Amino acid sequence: MATMRYMALFSELPRCDSCERRKILPQAGAKDLERLTGGRLVAFECPTGHGWHVRLR
Ligand SMILES: [Zn+2]
Repeated sequence: MATMRYMALFSELPRCDSCERRKILPQAGAKDLERLTGGRLVAFECPTGHGWHVRLR
């Protein structure tokens, strides 16, 4: 199941030192999480160029 796979991967992701230690994702992964959570998580690009993050809406 896609959601379970993402949650397993999510726990392994590196964290961003510039963004409150948020998880670092590729853009496609961040967008997928936004879609899989029905928009509960919102994808946004890291302002310091470390990839993409998600935050709670
Ligand atoms: Zn960041």
